[in-house]
Amino acid sequence: MATMYYEEDAPLAPLAGQKVAVIGYGSQGHAHSQNLRDSGVTVAVAELPDTANYKLAVEHGFEPTDIAAAMDGARLIIVTLPDEIQATVYEGQIAPNLRGGQTLGFCHGFNIHFKYIVPPKDVNVVMIAPKGPGHLVRSEYVKGGGVPCLVAVEQDATGDAKAVALAWANGIGGARAGVIETTYKEETETDLFGEQVVLCGGLSALIKAGFETLVKAGYQPEIAYFECMHEVKLIVDLMYQGGLSYMRYSISNTAEYGDLTRGSRIITEQTRAEMKKILGEITSGAFAKEWVAEYRSGLKKFNALYNADHDGQLEQVGRRLRKMMKWIDAKEV
Ligand code: NDP
Ligand code: MG
Repeated sequence: MATMYYEEDAPLAPLAGQKVAVIGYGSQGHAHSQNLRDSGVTVAVAELPDTANYKLAVEHGFEPTDIAAAMDGARLIIVTLPDEIQATVYEGQIAPNLRGGQTLGFCHGFNIHFKYIVPPKDVNVVMIAPKGPGHLVRSEYVKGGGVPCLVAVEQDATGDAKAVALAWANGIGGARAGVIETTYKEETETDLFGEQVVLCGGLSALIKAGFETLVKAGYQPEIAYFECMHEVKLIVDLMYQGGLSYMRYSISNTAEYGDLTRGSRIITEQTRAEMKKILGEITSGAFAKEWVAEYRSGLKKFNALYNADHDGQLEQVGRRLRKMMKWIDAKEV
């Protein structure tokens, strides 16, 4: 059984009356900053001036500064910069301002686990990794809930690194949902695997392949969109509430028989072998190396792949259909 922490195990006390610096006001940064502040913690935000997220932080009542000023006197420094730029910003602006006894906090283990960042021994290195997008970390908190988190301690210089991390989890609402104890290694590897194989890579590819199969066979793209994309949420909502069993209870017997007999023909032995291969690329560090090299050489492949989907038929049809469904709060990027 995993070790889990809830609010009573994660007192806010280690951060009460203390300053917390949040570096980067993006998806996670805006949520951690506002949730911690609403929990009574003093929050200093660092953002780049003249950016949209700087303006957003100001709208939310913060006075963003540079990194040095935000870090000055902070008990906890939460790094919510994109993973691919963290090492550069760390070298240039975080490391020179780090003081012994401070706690460095990450939301994902990538840079520590793969050693793109190696902090000095006299600081704590912890992680609170919310298992959900930043915007939900905020909206669930506002509703009185929270997004489950993982906690890991890589370095404990002061003897209370875990207590500081758990207070952070409490302050963002994560301890309401449950905080699972893990290591940087386990979090980093399972997070990368989940997003590549199931949540983002696997699911997007499944939706696209289903949509394209129907359209190529001559069916109307609008029907293919509803069938292969829109309904995914409705099915996943049922799984979220009651697992596969509740989803199967809700769908028709015909759908259930199709599910039980056809699913294993889509996820074949070959697919499972590929999943294992992808996990190997993650654990060996080959994926991390490839991603950092792609970022440093100007994101050509990244942008080409992104644009092909962004301008593709699935997205065009979806944009049009979502505009007609006022209640879904359609977004365009
Ligand atoms: P975002 O890209 O959403 O936000 C990063 C923010 O940092 C942006 O506002 C960016 O500004 C700002 N920034 C960039 N450079 C600097 C700088 N030099 N000084 C100050 N601010 C800067 O990142 P995420 O929130 O997605 O990711 C943050 C961390 O959280 C990552 O480690 C990620 O793996 C982890 N995580 C993210 C999740 C998510 O849902 N997104 C889920 C769980 C973990 P600008 O936009 O103006 O460039
Ligand atoms: Mg993840």
